[in-house]
Amino acid sequence: MLSESRVLVINCGSSSLKFSVLPLGEDMPLLSGLAERLGLDNASISFKNESGEKRTAPLDEATHECALETLFSEMSSLCLMDSLCAIGHRVAHGGSEFRHSVLITSEVIGKIRHLSELAPLHNPANLVGIETAMSLLPDLPHIAVFDTAFHQTMPPEAYTYAIPLEYRDDYQIRRYGFHGTSHRYIAMETVKELGLDPDNHGILVAHLGNGSSVCAVKNGKSVDTSMGMTPLEGLVMGTRCGDIDFGAAAYLAKCTNQSIESIYQVMNSQSGLLGLSGISSDCRTLQEARQQGDDRATLAIDVMVHRLARHLGGHLASLTHLDALVFTGGIGENSALIRELVIDNLAVFNLKIDKEKNQSVAGGKRGVISEPDSPVILVLPTNEEKMIAGDAAEIAETVSRLPHSYEHHIIA
Ligand code: ADP
Repeated sequence: MLSESRVLVINCGSSSLKFSVLPLGEDMPLLSGLAERLGLDNASISFKNESGEKRTAPLDEATHECALETLFSEMSSLCLMDSLCAIGHRVAHGGSEFRHSVLITSEVIGKIRHLSELAPLHNPANLVGIETAMSLLPDLPHIAVFDTAFHQTMPPEAYTYAIPLEYRDDYQIRRYGFHGTSHRYIAMETVKELGLDPDNHGILVAHLGNGSSVCAVKNGKSVDTSMGMTPLEGLVMGTRCGDIDFGAAAYLAKCTNQSIESIYQVMNSQSGLLGLSGISSDCRTLQEARQQGDDRATLAIDVMVHRLARHLGGHLASLTHLDALVFTGGIGENSALIRELVIDNLAVFNLKIDKEKNQSVAGGKRGVISEPDSPVILVLPTNEEKMIAGDAAEIAETVSRLPHSYEHHIIA
């Protein structure tokens, strides 16, 4: 491994920039935080140190460049700059092009830009972070880690929509899946935690947060996932509807005289838990409302749980056997209620939850929550930053050993 041993992980949005500085192989960052309201009034940056102390400062300019310069100056004052071996950038959409994490070159930037057509909200914002960081720190290797890459092992029958095939070939309309970095991390951790055979295992991962997806992992590879060409397909999420009959969407557009773009907006940002409950997109808030007898909050949770159970059952069909069902993400890691309700819906697969153990696992804890005669049900906190840092360091090390400048270095 390189003598320098820390990685800066950047997740850049159009008006925000999340960051963490991770020592290799460690779970917890030395420094993390968020620059917010970039491009708007009152832009600020907040830092959280190793002990969890937080500090927020206004930014002199509301730009990504100023945010990164402020971050680098903070890192310098904490003596973290000299020890950096790489910068890992989270990138939303890698299309069919990127099956792995990759060293960022001008060619890679061109391809990520081209893929913006598939992810217009995310890839251009990710590129701002990449290009700004590369211009400020040109001597360090910058690595792109794609949310879609892990799912590139899905077989054609799992990723192809049943529309005229020319659309897949001419316009890249197919299922890609997202949350790949989290699913890959959780699958790897599950193999370690349970001592599974790396070449013969079947795992279902339920990543449940504001965005949610299920993934079936067979022998370390994604074989099916619930999100599709965009993160809209699949489960009921905070504000996204997940699966919906296109006929219903078309009819709604006609009834309300809305354009396709407007319906797409409704499905993405006014639906899911928020649209059903009329209260909130936040699962915790809805659990409280349900407790107090709110009918719409109760229905919202029931619809979410039903869809989740349906997807878990469906994804089982891509496995030859089930070693473990793993819950992760804000809801998966913390909501004993959602875990219990969904497992109750999966009794046909002999999945049985230990209610006491289930109640005791929350707040970043990991643990088995199944009965002894059930397939294992596990809760594991996800750590996408650690996975990104690991990929970035591994590629940086390969690059440092090469005699010439780098192009196209990938890791399996
Ligand atoms: P994101 O997808 O934005 O990363 P998170 O993974 O942080 O989101 O998950 C956020 C979701 O987790 C919210 O719906 C929140 O209500 C839910 N959540 C967090 N803690 C709890 C809890 N104790 N009980 C139920 N839901 C929780």
